[in-house]
Amino acid sequence: MAKRSPILAAQPLSPAGSGGATGFTELGFQGGDVVTAGNLIAMMRLIWMLLALAGGLIFAVILDAAEPLQNGQQVAQAPTLTDLTGGRLPIVDLSWPLNAESVFWPGDGYEPFKLRDIATLEKDGVNSKAFSSPEHLGTHLDAPSHFEAGRLSVDRLPSESLFAPGVVVDISGPVGADPDYQVSLEDIRRFEQMHGAIPHGAVVLAYTGWSRFWKIPARYQNRDMRGQLHFPGFSAEAVDFLIRERDVRGVGLDTLSVDRGLSRDFPVHHLLGKAERYGLENLASLDKLPPTGFALFVAPMKIETGTGGPTRVFAILPSPNSSE
Ligand SMILES: [Zn+2]
Repeated sequence: MAKRSPILAAQPLSPAGSGGATGFTELGFQGGDVVTAGNLIAMMRLIWMLLALAGGLIFAVILDAAEPLQNGQQVAQAPTLTDLTGGRLPIVDLSWPLNAESVFWPGDGYEPFKLRDIATLEKDGVNSKAFSSPEHLGTHLDAPSHFEAGRLSVDRLPSESLFAPGVVVDISGPVGADPDYQVSLEDIRRFEQMHGAIPHGAVVLAYTGWSRFWKIPARYQNRDMRGQLHFPGFSAEAVDFLIRERDVRGVGLDTLSVDRGLSRDFPVHHLLGKAERYGLENLASLDKLPPTGFALFVAPMKIETGTGGPTRVFAILPSPNSSE
């Protein structure tokens, strides 16, 4: 919201009634008088004063819209849709490009992303390709139906749920010492002590630092000798709190799964699905985001009955001039 301009606030606008009548009297224009030459001059003065007042008001409103200097500092204005569509807001693409090396969950029946030519300019006068991919490959969304019966498939997620305030909880420090680390409830509380309460309806992202292994799929999966995966995720306690107490639309991170690699029962997937929330996995560029104050636009492919799908995720940052 724009703050009230001090100029506007300083205008001694009298309420309709007594104050106005006093003003008229001071100008020498008595109620009930017939219009004489002297009163015409008084009326002209009155009109001139009203015009000047109106001009001052308009000026004040313009200043208000431009966010005037307050306490000697330029106060930033909240970004608008026009700023967004005018290309004035920085946007960070949080999606990895899809290709044959894109990492996916190493389960039975999963296959790499494939892309082939249907037609080429040389042979057909047109370029066209076809792709195939598991839903859960590369940067993607897990729909509530992924782990829970009777919950929303990806095509049925309300559009409004795909736009959300974003926050990033940085756990790259502890993950550096322990690849099995999970975002804890304590991490969430510490984040809120530093940055304020996580906004209602937010999507909470965890930056684990794991994205630096993206181009080395074996390192990204990080299997041990027995085939057990080791990478960080969210704890069930933290996600339960975020759903119940912060009504988050979803959570996301820069690893293969919202449940850590060690998990066998996938409690975070179940919690999200039961509550009709979504998960975002294999996100990129989380290190380019501030902890708070940005908006997310989550655009999964609209696969009818899909349990998830490849997703373009954008973070829209406030203007660089913003004080927030
Ligand atoms: Zn998934």
